[in-house]
Amino acid sequence: MTHHPDSPLFPGAAQRQARDDALTRELAAAHDRVVAGPVTPRIDLAAFRDQLAAFDFQAPQDAARLLSWTIAQLEHGLVHITHPRYFGLFNPGPVAPSQWADRIAAVFNPQLATWTTSPAAVEIERHVIRAVARRAGLPADTVGHFTTGGAEANCTALICALTRAAPAFAAEGARAFAGAPVFYASRACHLAWLKIAHQSGIGRSAVRLVETDGAGRMDAAALAAAMAADAQAGCVPVMVVGTAGTTAAGMVDPLADCAALAQRAGAWFHVDAAWGGAAIASERLAPVLAGVELADSVTIDAHKWFATTMGCGMVLTPHAPVLSQAFEVTTGYMPSATRDVDPYVGSMQWSRRFLGLRLFLALAVAGWDGYAAHVEHAVGLAGVLRARLEARGWRIVNRSDLAVLCIEPPAGAADVRTIVGRVLASGRAWVSVATFEGRDVIRACITHGQATADDVGILIDALGAGASADR
Ligand SMILES: *Cc1c(COP(=O)(O)O)cnc(C)c1O
Repeated sequence: MTHHPDSPLFPGAAQRQARDDALTRELAAAHDRVVAGPVTPRIDLAAFRDQLAAFDFQAPQDAARLLSWTIAQLEHGLVHITHPRYFGLFNPGPVAPSQWADRIAAVFNPQLATWTTSPAAVEIERHVIRAVARRAGLPADTVGHFTTGGAEANCTALICALTRAAPAFAAEGARAFAGAPVFYASRACHLAWLKIAHQSGIGRSAVRLVETDGAGRMDAAALAAAMAADAQAGCVPVMVVGTAGTTAAGMVDPLADCAALAQRAGAWFHVDAAWGGAAIASERLAPVLAGVELADSVTIDAHKWFATTMGCGMVLTPHAPVLSQAFEVTTGYMPSATRDVDPYVGSMQWSRRFLGLRLFLALAVAGWDGYAAHVEHAVGLAGVLRARLEARGWRIVNRSDLAVLCIEPPAGAADVRTIVGRVLASGRAWVSVATFEGRDVIRACITHGQATADDVGILIDALGAGASADR
Protein backbone atom coordinates (compact mmCIF):
# COMPACT_ATOMS: atom_id res chain seq x y z
CA MET A 1 0.00 0.00 0.00
CA THR A 2 1.31 3.44 -0.85
CA HIS A 3 1.53 5.83 2.05
CA HIS A 4 0.15 9.30 1.44
CA PRO A 5 1.39 12.02 3.75
CA ASP A 6 -1.29 13.71 5.88
CA SER A 7 -2.43 17.04 4.50
CA PRO A 8 -5.19 19.46 5.56
CA LEU A 9 -7.25 18.57 2.50
CA PHE A 10 -6.56 14.85 2.54
CA PRO A 11 -5.95 13.79 6.15
CA GLY A 12 -4.67 10.28 6.77
CA ALA A 13 -7.07 7.48 7.60
CA ALA A 14 -6.67 7.56 11.38
CA GLN A 15 -6.96 11.31 11.61
CA ARG A 16 -9.88 11.28 9.24
CA GLN A 17 -11.79 8.66 11.21
CA ALA A 18 -11.21 10.48 14.50
CA ARG A 19 -12.51 13.72 12.99
CA ASP A 20 -15.57 12.02 11.46
CA ASP A 21 -16.46 10.37 14.77
CA ALA A 22 -16.03 13.60 16.72
CA LEU A 23 -18.18 15.44 14.19
CA THR A 24 -20.94 12.85 14.52
CA ARG A 25 -21.00 13.31 18.30
CA GLU A 26 -20.83 17.11 18.14
CA LEU A 27 -23.68 17.28 15.63
CA ALA A 28 -25.89 15.06 17.77
CA ALA A 29 -25.26 17.23 20.83
CA ALA A 30 -25.94 20.39 18.84
CA HIS A 31 -29.21 18.94 17.57
CA ASP A 32 -30.29 18.17 21.15
CA ARG A 33 -29.59 21.77 22.16
CA VAL A 34 -31.44 23.13 19.11
CA VAL A 35 -34.59 21.18 19.92
CA ALA A 36 -34.51 22.41 23.53
CA GLY A 37 -33.85 26.03 22.57
CA PRO A 38 -35.52 28.84 20.64
CA VAL A 39 -36.71 28.23 17.08
CA THR A 40 -35.49 31.63 15.90
CA PRO A 41 -31.86 32.86 15.64
CA ARG A 42 -30.08 34.27 18.68
CA ILE A 43 -26.84 35.32 17.04
CA ASP A 44 -24.86 38.49 17.72
CA LEU A 45 -24.53 39.43 14.06
CA ALA A 46 -21.95 42.18 14.62
CA ALA A 47 -19.64 39.79 16.46
CA PHE A 48 -20.27 37.10 13.89
CA ARG A 49 -19.39 39.40 10.99
CA ASP A 50 -16.17 40.44 12.72
CA GLN A 51 -15.18 36.81 13.12
CA LEU A 52 -16.08 36.10 9.53
CA ALA A 53 -14.09 39.08 8.27
CA ALA A 54 -11.03 37.71 10.08
CA PHE A 55 -10.93 34.73 7.73
CA ASP A 56 -8.38 35.96 5.22
CA PHE A 57 -7.50 32.40 4.15
CA GLN A 58 -3.78 32.98 4.56
CA ALA A 59 -2.51 30.73 7.36
CA PRO A 60 -4.12 27.26 7.56
CA GLN A 61 -6.32 26.73 10.60
CA ASP A 62 -7.05 23.77 12.82
CA ALA A 63 -9.89 21.67 11.39
CA ALA A 64 -11.29 20.56 14.74
CA ARG A 65 -11.66 24.15 15.90
CA LEU A 66 -13.13 25.23 12.59
CA LEU A 67 -15.78 22.54 12.61
CA SER A 68 -16.82 23.40 16.16
CA TRP A 69 -16.93 27.10 15.23
CA THR A 70 -19.14 26.34 12.23
CA ILE A 71 -21.57 24.25 14.24
CA ALA A 72 -21.81 26.99 16.87
CA GLN A 73 -22.60 29.64 14.26
CA LEU A 74 -25.33 27.52 12.69
CA GLU A 75 -26.71 26.58 16.09
CA HIS A 76 -27.31 30.24 16.86
CA GLY A 77 -27.64 31.76 13.42
CA LEU A 78 -30.55 29.94 11.78
CA VAL A 79 -34.28 29.58 11.94
CA HIS A 80 -34.28 25.95 13.02
CA ILE A 81 -36.33 23.89 10.63
CA THR A 82 -35.19 20.85 12.59
CA HIS A 83 -37.16 22.16 15.60
CA PRO A 84 -40.57 20.52 16.07
CA ARG A 85 -42.15 23.94 16.60
CA TYR A 86 -41.08 25.20 13.19
CA PHE A 87 -44.64 25.49 11.79
CA GLY A 88 -43.27 26.92 8.64
CA LEU A 89 -42.83 26.86 4.95
CA PHE A 90 -42.38 23.37 3.62
CA ASN A 91 -38.91 22.74 5.03
CA PRO A 92 -39.22 19.68 7.24
CA GLY A 93 -36.74 18.32 9.71
CA PRO A 94 -34.94 15.79 7.52
CA VAL A 95 -35.56 12.07 7.97
CA ALA A 96 -32.49 10.13 9.14
CA PRO A 97 -32.16 7.85 6.07
CA SER A 98 -31.81 10.93 3.84
CA GLN A 99 -28.99 12.21 6.03
CA TRP A 100 -27.27 8.84 5.79
CA ALA A 101 -27.72 8.99 2.03
CA ASP A 102 -25.95 12.35 1.95
CA ARG A 103 -23.01 10.92 3.86
CA ILE A 104 -22.74 7.98 1.52
CA ALA A 105 -23.03 10.19 -1.57
CA ALA A 106 -20.39 12.54 -0.18
CA VAL A 107 -17.89 9.72 0.26
CA PHE A 108 -18.33 8.01 -3.13
CA ASN A 109 -19.21 11.31 -4.80
CA PRO A 110 -20.63 9.59 -7.87
CA GLN A 111 -21.11 11.54 -11.08
CA LEU A 112 -24.61 10.83 -12.38
CA ALA A 113 -24.33 12.65 -15.70
CA THR A 114 -23.96 9.34 -17.51
CA TRP A 115 -25.07 5.80 -16.80
CA THR A 116 -21.67 4.44 -17.80
CA THR A 117 -19.87 6.19 -14.96
CA SER A 118 -22.41 5.35 -12.24
CA PRO A 119 -24.72 2.53 -13.33
CA ALA A 120 -25.74 1.52 -9.81
CA ALA A 121 -26.61 5.07 -8.80
CA VAL A 122 -28.48 5.90 -12.00
CA GLU A 123 -30.52 2.71 -11.74
CA ILE A 124 -31.42 3.36 -8.10
CA GLU A 125 -32.77 6.78 -9.10
CA ARG A 126 -34.73 5.37 -12.04
CA HIS A 127 -36.24 2.74 -9.78
CA VAL A 128 -37.45 5.36 -7.27
CA ILE A 129 -38.83 7.61 -10.01
CA ARG A 130 -40.82 4.69 -11.47
CA ALA A 131 -42.16 3.76 -8.02
CA VAL A 132 -43.28 7.33 -7.33
CA ALA A 133 -44.89 7.60 -10.78
CA ARG A 134 -46.80 4.33 -10.27
CA ARG A 135 -47.94 5.46 -6.84
CA ALA A 136 -49.19 8.73 -8.34
CA GLY A 137 -51.24 6.78 -10.88
CA LEU A 138 -49.26 8.04 -13.88
CA PRO A 139 -48.99 5.91 -17.07
CA ALA A 140 -46.68 2.91 -16.99
CA ASP A 141 -44.15 4.47 -19.39
CA THR A 142 -43.64 7.55 -17.20
CA VAL A 143 -40.04 8.69 -16.87
CA GLY A 144 -38.40 11.49 -14.95
CA HIS A 145 -35.47 12.46 -12.82
CA PHE A 146 -34.38 14.12 -9.62
CA THR A 147 -33.92 17.89 -9.60
CA THR A 148 -32.52 20.42 -7.18
CA GLY A 149 -36.10 21.27 -6.22
CA GLY A 150 -39.53 22.25 -7.42
CA ALA A 151 -38.37 25.32 -9.30
CA GLU A 152 -36.06 23.27 -11.52
CA ALA A 153 -38.75 20.62 -11.98
CA ASN A 154 -41.30 23.26 -12.99
CA CYS A 155 -38.80 24.87 -15.36
CA THR A 156 -38.23 21.46 -16.95
CA ALA A 157 -41.99 21.16 -17.49
CA LEU A 158 -42.17 24.54 -19.24
CA ILE A 159 -39.24 23.72 -21.53
CA CYS A 160 -40.99 20.45 -22.43
CA ALA A 161 -44.28 22.26 -23.09
CA LEU A 162 -42.56 24.79 -25.36
CA THR A 163 -40.61 22.09 -27.17
CA ARG A 164 -43.71 20.02 -27.86
CA ALA A 165 -45.76 23.05 -28.92
CA ALA A 166 -43.12 24.16 -31.44
CA PRO A 167 -40.27 21.80 -32.30
CA ALA A 168 -38.46 24.83 -33.78
CA PHE A 169 -38.29 26.25 -30.25
CA ALA A 170 -35.06 24.26 -29.87
CA ALA A 171 -33.34 26.27 -32.60
CA GLU A 172 -35.19 29.57 -32.57
CA GLY A 173 -36.43 30.04 -29.04
CA ALA A 174 -39.57 32.12 -28.58
CA ARG A 175 -39.28 33.31 -32.21
CA ALA A 176 -40.49 29.85 -33.24
CA PHE A 177 -44.07 30.77 -32.29
CA ALA A 178 -46.52 32.53 -34.60
CA GLY A 179 -47.85 34.50 -31.61
CA ALA A 180 -46.59 35.12 -28.09
CA PRO A 181 -46.44 31.85 -26.13
CA VAL A 182 -48.31 32.14 -22.81
CA PHE A 183 -49.11 29.84 -19.93
CA TYR A 184 -51.61 29.76 -17.08
CA ALA A 185 -51.39 29.26 -13.35
CA SER A 186 -53.63 30.53 -10.59
CA ARG A 187 -52.72 33.72 -8.78
CA ALA A 188 -52.10 31.54 -5.71
CA CYS A 189 -49.42 29.56 -7.58
CA HIS A 190 -45.76 29.49 -6.61
CA LEU A 191 -44.16 32.62 -8.00
CA ALA A 192 -41.06 30.76 -9.14
CA TRP A 193 -43.12 30.61 -12.36
CA LEU A 194 -42.23 34.25 -13.02
CA LYS A 195 -38.51 33.52 -12.83
CA ILE A 196 -38.99 30.39 -14.93
CA ALA A 197 -40.79 32.37 -17.66
CA HIS A 198 -37.91 34.85 -17.61
CA GLN A 199 -35.24 32.13 -17.80
CA SER A 200 -37.00 30.27 -20.60
CA GLY A 201 -36.90 33.34 -22.78
CA ILE A 202 -40.66 33.79 -23.21
CA GLY A 203 -40.68 36.56 -20.61
CA ARG A 204 -42.52 37.20 -17.40
CA SER A 205 -45.49 38.70 -19.22
CA ALA A 206 -46.19 35.22 -20.60
CA VAL A 207 -47.45 34.14 -17.17
CA ARG A 208 -51.22 34.47 -16.90
CA LEU A 209 -52.15 34.56 -13.22
CA VAL A 210 -55.74 33.33 -13.26
CA GLU A 211 -58.30 34.45 -10.68
CA THR A 212 -59.10 32.17 -7.76
CA ASP A 213 -62.56 31.07 -6.69
CA GLY A 214 -62.70 32.78 -3.29
CA ALA A 215 -61.41 29.62 -1.61
CA GLY A 216 -57.84 29.75 -2.91
CA ARG A 217 -58.28 27.46 -5.94
CA MET A 218 -58.00 28.26 -9.63
CA ASP A 219 -61.36 29.43 -10.98
CA ALA A 220 -61.92 27.12 -13.98
CA ALA A 221 -64.34 29.56 -15.63
CA ALA A 222 -61.77 32.35 -15.34
CA LEU A 223 -59.15 30.02 -16.85
CA ALA A 224 -61.43 29.22 -19.80
CA ALA A 225 -62.12 32.93 -20.32
CA ALA A 226 -58.44 33.87 -20.17
CA MET A 227 -57.51 31.15 -22.67
CA ALA A 228 -60.27 32.24 -25.06
CA ALA A 229 -59.21 35.89 -24.83
CA ASP A 230 -55.57 34.99 -25.52
CA ALA A 231 -56.49 32.81 -28.49
CA GLN A 232 -58.56 35.69 -29.85
CA ALA A 233 -55.55 38.00 -29.45
CA GLY A 234 -53.27 35.61 -31.34
CA CYS A 235 -51.29 34.33 -28.35
CA VAL A 236 -50.29 30.66 -28.19
CA PRO A 237 -51.34 28.88 -24.97
CA VAL A 238 -48.55 26.37 -24.33
CA MET A 239 -49.27 25.15 -20.80
CA VAL A 240 -51.81 25.07 -18.00
CA VAL A 241 -50.46 24.59 -14.48
CA GLY A 242 -52.64 23.08 -11.79
CA THR A 243 -51.22 23.62 -8.33
CA ALA A 244 -51.88 20.69 -5.99
CA GLY A 245 -51.17 22.21 -2.60
CA THR A 246 -50.73 25.98 -2.82
CA THR A 247 -47.87 27.44 -0.85
CA ALA A 248 -49.94 29.77 1.29
CA ALA A 249 -52.98 27.63 1.93
CA GLY A 250 -52.55 24.03 0.75
CA MET A 251 -55.40 24.31 -1.73
CA VAL A 252 -55.72 22.04 -4.77
CA ASP A 253 -56.84 23.48 -8.11
CA PRO A 254 -59.64 21.67 -10.01
CA LEU A 255 -57.15 19.42 -11.79
CA ALA A 256 -59.58 17.58 -14.06
CA ASP A 257 -61.09 20.87 -15.31
CA CYS A 258 -57.61 22.29 -15.90
CA ALA A 259 -56.64 19.12 -17.80
CA ALA A 260 -59.73 19.31 -20.01
CA LEU A 261 -59.13 22.99 -20.86
CA ALA A 262 -55.46 22.33 -21.61
CA GLN A 263 -56.31 19.42 -23.83
CA ARG A 264 -58.91 21.40 -25.76
CA ALA A 265 -56.29 24.08 -26.49
CA GLY A 266 -53.57 21.56 -27.34
CA ALA A 267 -51.57 22.81 -24.35
CA TRP A 268 -49.39 20.85 -21.94
CA PHE A 269 -50.95 20.15 -18.53
CA HIS A 270 -48.54 20.36 -15.62
CA VAL A 271 -49.38 19.59 -12.00
CA ASP A 272 -47.23 21.38 -9.45
CA ALA A 273 -47.52 19.11 -6.43
CA ALA A 274 -44.18 20.15 -4.97
CA TRP A 275 -45.44 19.90 -1.42
CA GLY A 276 -48.82 18.20 -1.66
CA GLY A 277 -47.52 15.35 -3.80
CA ALA A 278 -46.51 13.37 -0.73
CA ALA A 279 -50.22 12.70 -0.22
CA ILE A 280 -49.75 9.82 -2.70
CA ALA A 281 -48.29 7.87 0.22
CA SER A 282 -51.62 7.73 2.03
CA GLU A 283 -54.63 5.89 0.66
CA ARG A 284 -56.80 8.19 2.76
CA LEU A 285 -55.24 11.44 1.47
CA ALA A 286 -54.34 10.51 -2.12
CA PRO A 287 -57.85 11.30 -3.44
CA VAL A 288 -57.05 14.97 -2.74
CA LEU A 289 -54.78 14.77 -5.81
CA ALA A 290 -57.42 13.26 -8.13
CA GLY A 291 -56.69 14.39 -11.68
CA VAL A 292 -52.89 14.27 -11.27
CA GLU A 293 -52.93 11.11 -13.42
CA LEU A 294 -54.02 13.26 -16.39
CA ALA A 295 -50.88 15.37 -16.26
CA ASP A 296 -48.29 15.70 -19.01
CA SER A 297 -45.81 16.37 -16.22
CA VAL A 298 -45.78 16.48 -12.44
CA THR A 299 -43.50 18.14 -9.88
CA ILE A 300 -43.06 16.48 -6.50
CA ASP A 301 -40.38 17.62 -4.07
CA ALA A 302 -38.77 14.96 -1.91
CA HIS A 303 -37.36 17.73 0.29
CA LYS A 304 -40.80 18.98 1.20
CA TRP A 305 -43.33 16.61 2.71
CA PHE A 306 -41.17 13.52 2.09
CA ALA A 307 -38.74 15.31 4.40
CA THR A 308 -35.45 14.46 2.74
CA THR A 309 -32.51 16.79 3.08
CA MET A 310 -32.57 20.03 1.13
CA GLY A 311 -32.28 20.23 -2.58
CA CYS A 312 -34.26 17.19 -3.77
CA GLY A 313 -37.12 17.52 -6.23
CA MET A 314 -38.58 15.29 -8.93
CA VAL A 315 -40.13 15.83 -12.32
CA LEU A 316 -42.21 13.07 -13.91
CA THR A 317 -43.62 12.83 -17.42
CA PRO A 318 -45.13 10.16 -19.63
CA HIS A 319 -43.57 11.92 -22.65
CA ALA A 320 -40.04 10.51 -22.69
CA PRO A 321 -39.38 11.65 -26.28
CA VAL A 322 -40.23 15.26 -25.42
CA LEU A 323 -37.83 15.20 -22.49
CA SER A 324 -35.10 13.96 -24.84
CA GLN A 325 -35.89 16.55 -27.51
CA ALA A 326 -35.83 19.28 -24.90
CA PHE A 327 -32.44 18.43 -23.39
CA GLU A 328 -30.49 16.43 -25.97
CA VAL A 329 -26.99 17.42 -26.97
CA THR A 330 -24.17 15.59 -28.66
CA THR A 331 -20.62 15.87 -27.41
CA GLY A 332 -17.41 14.21 -28.38
CA TYR A 333 -16.14 13.84 -24.85
CA MET A 334 -19.03 12.24 -22.95
CA PRO A 335 -19.30 8.45 -22.93
CA SER A 336 -22.26 8.07 -25.28
CA ALA A 337 -23.08 4.39 -25.65
CA THR A 338 -25.95 4.73 -23.20
CA ARG A 339 -27.72 7.88 -24.35
CA ASP A 340 -31.21 6.59 -23.70
CA VAL A 341 -30.48 6.32 -19.99
CA ASP A 342 -27.94 9.12 -19.53
CA PRO A 343 -29.40 11.75 -17.19
CA TYR A 344 -27.47 14.61 -18.80
CA VAL A 345 -29.32 14.28 -22.14
CA GLY A 346 -32.78 14.24 -20.55
CA SER A 347 -32.51 16.99 -17.95
CA MET A 348 -31.30 20.50 -17.21
CA GLN A 349 -28.28 19.52 -15.13
CA TRP A 350 -25.01 18.18 -16.46
CA SER A 351 -22.85 17.04 -13.55
CA ARG A 352 -25.28 15.67 -10.99
CA ARG A 353 -25.21 14.68 -7.37
CA PHE A 354 -26.73 11.38 -6.23
CA LEU A 355 -29.92 12.95 -4.83
CA GLY A 356 -32.26 10.02 -5.36
CA LEU A 357 -30.53 7.87 -2.75
CA ARG A 358 -32.19 10.03 -0.08
CA LEU A 359 -35.71 9.03 -1.07
CA PHE A 360 -34.66 5.48 -1.96
CA LEU A 361 -33.32 4.80 1.54
CA ALA A 362 -36.19 6.63 3.26
CA LEU A 363 -38.85 4.75 1.29
CA ALA A 364 -37.05 1.47 1.80
CA VAL A 365 -36.68 2.00 5.54
CA ALA A 366 -40.22 3.25 6.18
CA GLY A 367 -42.22 1.81 3.30
CA TRP A 368 -45.19 3.65 1.82
CA ASP A 369 -47.01 2.88 5.07
CA GLY A 370 -44.37 4.73 7.02
CA TYR A 371 -44.83 7.78 4.84
CA ALA A 372 -48.61 7.42 5.02
CA ALA A 373 -48.33 7.63 8.80
CA HIS A 374 -46.03 10.66 8.42
CA VAL A 375 -48.45 12.70 6.29
CA GLU A 376 -51.54 11.55 8.18
CA HIS A 377 -49.90 12.58 11.46
CA ALA A 378 -49.40 16.10 10.09
CA VAL A 379 -52.97 16.37 8.82
CA GLY A 380 -54.32 15.06 12.12
CA LEU A 381 -52.28 17.54 14.12
CA ALA A 382 -53.44 20.39 11.88
CA GLY A 383 -56.97 19.30 12.79
CA VAL A 384 -56.10 19.52 16.49
CA LEU A 385 -54.65 23.01 16.00
CA ARG A 386 -57.75 24.07 14.07
CA ALA A 387 -60.18 22.80 16.72
CA ARG A 388 -58.31 24.37 19.61
CA LEU A 389 -57.95 27.74 17.91
CA GLU A 390 -61.59 27.81 16.86
CA ALA A 391 -62.61 27.02 20.43
CA ARG A 392 -60.69 30.17 21.44
CA GLY A 393 -62.42 32.40 18.89
CA TRP A 394 -59.73 32.32 16.17
CA ARG A 395 -60.90 31.72 12.61
CA ILE A 396 -59.43 29.30 10.06
CA VAL A 397 -60.17 30.79 6.64
CA ASN A 398 -58.84 28.06 4.31
CA ARG A 399 -60.45 24.64 3.87
CA SER A 400 -57.39 22.57 3.02
CA ASP A 401 -57.33 18.78 3.29
CA LEU A 402 -53.59 19.06 3.84
CA ALA A 403 -51.69 20.22 6.92
CA VAL A 404 -51.67 24.01 6.61
CA LEU A 405 -53.94 26.54 8.29
CA CYS A 406 -54.57 30.19 7.40
CA ILE A 407 -55.53 31.80 10.68
CA GLU A 408 -57.26 35.07 11.56
CA PRO A 409 -57.09 36.36 15.13
CA PRO A 410 -60.25 37.01 17.16
CA ALA A 411 -61.89 40.44 17.06
CA GLY A 412 -60.05 43.00 19.17
CA ALA A 413 -56.73 41.18 18.97
CA ALA A 414 -53.51 42.69 17.64
CA ASP A 415 -53.09 42.52 13.85
CA VAL A 416 -51.59 39.54 12.04
CA ARG A 417 -48.13 41.02 11.44
CA THR A 418 -47.80 42.13 15.05
CA ILE A 419 -48.80 38.71 16.35
CA VAL A 420 -46.37 36.88 14.06
CA GLY A 421 -43.57 39.30 15.02
CA ARG A 422 -44.21 38.62 18.70
CA VAL A 423 -44.32 34.85 18.25
CA LEU A 424 -40.98 34.89 16.42
CA ALA A 425 -39.43 37.21 19.01
CA SER A 426 -40.51 34.78 21.74
CA GLY A 427 -38.58 32.00 19.99
CA ARG A 428 -41.28 29.54 21.08
CA ALA A 429 -42.51 28.75 17.59
CA TRP A 430 -42.14 29.80 13.96
CA VAL A 431 -45.13 30.80 11.85
CA SER A 432 -45.40 33.24 8.97
CA VAL A 433 -47.62 35.90 7.44
CA ALA A 434 -49.31 34.85 4.20
CA THR A 435 -51.97 36.23 1.92
CA PHE A 436 -55.15 34.25 1.40
CA GLU A 437 -57.73 35.62 -1.05
CA GLY A 438 -56.31 39.10 -0.63
CA ARG A 439 -56.11 39.28 3.14
CA ASP A 440 -53.29 38.85 5.62
CA VAL A 441 -53.40 35.62 7.61
CA ILE A 442 -51.14 33.76 10.00
CA ARG A 443 -49.89 30.67 8.21
CA ALA A 444 -49.14 27.61 10.32
CA CYS A 445 -48.10 24.37 8.67
CA ILE A 446 -47.37 21.13 10.50
CA THR A 447 -43.93 20.80 8.97
CA HIS A 448 -41.85 18.72 11.38
CA GLY A 449 -42.53 14.99 11.43
CA GLN A 450 -42.12 14.86 15.21
CA ALA A 451 -44.34 17.79 16.16
CA THR A 452 -46.75 16.77 18.94
CA ALA A 453 -49.98 18.01 20.51
CA ASP A 454 -47.80 19.60 23.22
CA ASP A 455 -45.95 21.57 20.56
CA VAL A 456 -49.29 22.71 19.16
CA GLY A 457 -50.26 23.77 22.69
CA ILE A 458 -47.12 25.90 23.00
CA LEU A 459 -47.87 27.50 19.62
CA ILE A 460 -51.40 28.34 20.79
CA ASP A 461 -50.02 29.92 23.97
CA ALA A 462 -47.52 31.94 21.94
CA LEU A 463 -50.25 33.10 19.54
CA GLY A 464 -52.49 34.01 22.49
CA ALA A 465 -49.72 36.03 24.14
CA GLY A 466 -48.96 37.74 20.84
CA ALA A 467 -52.60 38.60 20.25
CA SER A 468 -53.26 40.44 23.50
CA ALA A 469 -53.75 44.07 22.58
CA ASP A 470 -52.68 45.48 25.96
CA ARG A 471 -48.90 45.33 25.75
C1 LIG B 1 -41.84 24.90 -2.83
C2 LIG B 1 -42.67 24.99 -4.03
C3 LIG B 1 -42.10 25.29 -5.27
C4 LIG B 1 -40.63 25.63 -5.43
O1 LIG B 1 -39.89 24.49 -5.14
P1 LIG B 1 -38.37 24.57 -4.61
O2 LIG B 1 -38.13 23.18 -4.16
O3 LIG B 1 -38.34 25.58 -3.51
O4 LIG B 1 -37.53 24.96 -5.76
C5 LIG B 1 -42.91 25.33 -6.38
N1 LIG B 1 -44.23 25.07 -6.26
C6 LIG B 1 -44.82 24.78 -5.09
C7 LIG B 1 -46.29 24.52 -5.05
C8 LIG B 1 -44.05 24.73 -3.92
O5 LIG B 1 -44.65 24.43 -2.76
